[in-house]
Amino acid sequence: MTIRATKRGSQRTPLSAECDVLICGASFAGLSVARELAGIGAKVMVIDRYEIGERQTSACAAPTAWLENLGLGQSILQTFGELVVHTPDQSVRWELPFTFSTFDYRQLCLLLWDQAGDAHFETAKVNRRSANTVETDRGAITSELIVDAMGWRRILDSQPNVQPPDAPMSRGLEVSPAGSREDLELWLDPSYLASGYGWSFPAGGEVRVGLGSFEPRDHVREPTVRLSNTLGLAPDKYQGNWIPHKLRPGAGDEIFYVGDSAGHCLPLSAEGIRTAFYFGLAAGRELRLILEGGQGREQALERYALFSAQHAAKFSIMLGLQQAYPKIPTRLMSKAVRAFGNPKVSRWAFQRYLEIAPPSYALSGPARAEKSPASSAAA
Ligand SMILES: Cc1cc2nc3c(=O)[nH]c(=O)nc-3n(C[C@H](O)[C@H](O)[C@H](O)COP(=O)(O)OP(=O)(O)OC[C@H]3O[C@@H](n4cnc5c(N)ncnc54)[C@H](O)[C@@H]3O)c2cc1C
Repeated sequence: MTIRATKRGSQRTPLSAECDVLICGASFAGLSVARELAGIGAKVMVIDRYEIGERQTSACAAPTAWLENLGLGQSILQTFGELVVHTPDQSVRWELPFTFSTFDYRQLCLLLWDQAGDAHFETAKVNRRSANTVETDRGAITSELIVDAMGWRRILDSQPNVQPPDAPMSRGLEVSPAGSREDLELWLDPSYLASGYGWSFPAGGEVRVGLGSFEPRDHVREPTVRLSNTLGLAPDKYQGNWIPHKLRPGAGDEIFYVGDSAGHCLPLSAEGIRTAFYFGLAAGRELRLILEGGQGREQALERYALFSAQHAAKFSIMLGLQQAYPKIPTRLMSKAVRAFGNPKVSRWAFQRYLEIAPPSYALSGPARAEKSPASSAAA
């Protein structure tokens, strides 16, 4: 449920600050970076145009092991060991080698924030950057170490940004009507979208029903409403966004790019939460090493960019599958969906898929400090 808490008008007091690390964006990626910096006594500042957890940015489904390994299990709403896939002529159950869970966005963000030690949060909208100063609607913040975790716009990049529909982006729209369903479901059905898929992700008392189109020019509103109505759910609470489907450099111009700003969302599945966690932890660990005196900024930027780029082959396989998807004749698609009904096939494929950003990575970081009450600005 969206809660409007962001400070407005005169409440938005002028802000001018200097800090050791400035993290722009307080969602999955930015908060994962912040949690890795807890307990080292550094001045870490996190900013976002909204309060932490105020604006849900997705259908909020992720592998359960990622949520549990990050200590976010309390935010889980519903857990699924199978995926029900619908094509125009059949519905097939795919058994998974791991479970997915839907979760409460606000609670998850606040749990992550609790792990961020003495990091300080302010609501501020980032407008631009000049060298190591970030200009916001409340004033300028200066830092030697800056992270862009603000999503697909990649705002801090000095290069002119390509905007949709010309940028390599997919388009997602969903509604979250009150209701309940048992299964995690996907629709691979050209009557909704020729190039994309539909989903229904139950989450406690609501069902998140949406469509993701790989073709940014395609309209998604009408088929989203139609899918929701077909499920007997009156469409409500719309939210949509662009979803990058191409990996971009993880570092450049002295900035660390994490999550959607680096194109870390997986093509084909548009799964971008666990990868935002994964690359967020990786960037946070490089930053931590700088602050502990173990490396310089240039080395950290280089190492993080390399870590991100090492995943390029896997992202490019996923992109190849995404590009092939609309060209697959319906009969062949039905056959492939049936083949995944064989648990041996689905378990093998999904295990490989999970390993692109494995949940074990969450367990390999430094021990973290608890947040002190004074710094829990958003709690
Ligand atoms: C409809 C839809 C459903 C989806 N469902 C799923 C799903 O179920 N599972 C999954 O894994 N992925 C899903 N995704 C993809 C996933 O949402 C993204 O990949 C993920 O949110 C990326 O995380 P992030 O932290 O990089 O960016 P975001 O979650 O987009 O967060 C960016 C943050 O930056 C802030 N920000 C932006 N601009 C500014 C600014 N100028 N100044 C200050 N702050 C700013 C925003 O307020 C926000 O808090 C979905 C996407 C869409 C569109």
